Amino acid sequence: MADKRLNSIDGFVFDLDGTVYLGEEALPGAVETIAELRRRGSRVLFVSNKPLYPRQNYADKLTRLGIPATAGDVITSAYVLARYLALHEPDLRYYVVGEANLVAELEGQGLHVVGELADQDPQDVIDPTGIDAVVVAFDRTLDYRKLNTAYQALRRGARYFATNGDKTCPMPGGDIPDAGATLAALLQISGRSPELIAGKPSTVILQAALERLELPAQRCLMAGDRLETDIRMGHDAGMKTAVVLSGVTTRADAEKASPQPDLVLANLGELVQHLA
Ligand SMILES: [Mg+2]
Repeated sequence: MADKRLNSIDGFVFDLDGTVYLGEEALPGAVETIAELRRRGSRVLFVSNKPLYPRQNYADKLTRLGIPATAGDVITSAYVLARYLALHEPDLRYYVVGEANLVAELEGQGLHVVGELADQDPQDVIDPTGIDAVVVAFDRTLDYRKLNTAYQALRRGARYFATNGDKTCPMPGGDIPDAGATLAALLQISGRSPELIAGKPSTVILQAALERLELPAQRCLMAGDRLETDIRMGHDAGMKTAVVLSGVTTRADAEKASPQPDLVLANLGELVQHLA
């Protein structure tokens, strides 16, 4: 694999957590590699499944870490889901199992978000007849009342969407539960799964990325630390793929992966040597 150089790659899509940075630290080689790709005239885009903050926050963080970026350089699962719903389902009343940013992203697209009850008993639920659709995201404020409200709405046939399906999110002290954990809980109790999970590996976030890069998939490389999202999406789109072992994937995981990534890198610092 090491002597097979990739030709004609002009666009690079980078995952963030576990790929470019972990917590508040840039991962080894990330700053230098992205600077070098830009120096060569390549287009660079950051695509994260993390729905917790506005795109500008991720751009600010990248800039702080030495990778100058604007909101236009960043795509998140919350951003693409809000845009998708505004386009296709603008009239639904949405119940959000997520944090404040997702509510802001949805409302920012003109969508109606059902308000939370204030200071209620944990067993109280919002009237499910006022909910047309449930949206699940990474939610560090998840509690029994949210789970129950979502369940009651899903039981009654509410539509069902999610930002992302990641089971965990890599953090400096170890992984923490992500949206996939909530989706699994709701599947267990309701038997239902979302009709759309907008984040990687969906075509919704892929199309948003390719539109931004203005390049055919064949001339792009997707680099990320998660096989079932980053590598799956890149592979299915016809992009070249690089898994980095600086996040959730081990070398043993990468060796038995299907589909196989084109490159297995300890970190982004090893990327440039594989480019023609
Ligand atoms: Mg990642």
